[in-house]
Amino acid sequence: MPELPEVETVVRGLRAAGAVGARIRQVDVRWPRTLLARLGPEPLAAAFTAAALRARLAGRRRMLKPLLLDQSTVAGLGNIYVDEALWRARLHPCRQAGTLAPAETARLHAAIRKVLREAVDIGGTSLGDGRANFYSVAGRRGRHADNLRVFRRTGAPCPRCGRPVVRIVVGQRGTHLCPRCQPPPE
Ligand SMILES: [Zn+2]
Repeated sequence: MPELPEVETVVRGLRAAGAVGARIRQVDVRWPRTLLARLGPEPLAAAFTAAALRARLAGRRRMLKPLLLDQSTVAGLGNIYVDEALWRARLHPCRQAGTLAPAETARLHAAIRKVLREAVDIGGTSLGDGRANFYSVAGRRGRHADNLRVFRRTGAPCPRCGRPVVRIVVGQRGTHLCPRCQPPPE
């Protein structure tokens, strides 16, 4: 499942290849289900303000991680960038969304945009070497894997405080966090 930076990298590659204005003659759909029915706001759009995020989290009892992975909350966030954004915002993935203070929501909003912008700037994230992995239009691998702070860094020191990163399972998804920077909910 591509997340926003991978999609944006492909968009930029298509533009650079002169695809704007060209006629599409054939489309190869590799995943027949890509899911455009109920997409939430685009997180890098100007309309996605901290207040807009706060409105989507207000009163919600779901945990932050599954709520942010839900494409109807915000479009384009998957496992990698949710873990990275929550680490940056110093929020535990099991926090109930509706319990966030305004300052915490503002931190989360800033973290989501920063993580995505950084990843777009360096061409997205490619994890393995498999054919199913992410490659840009030019066939290049994204370099963002070198930039990940917690995702798949279990046991490595947290770049902020040095405590080893731990992996837990939240909503059936492997989840990476710093147990000191991201204290669990009471
Ligand atoms: Zn830490």
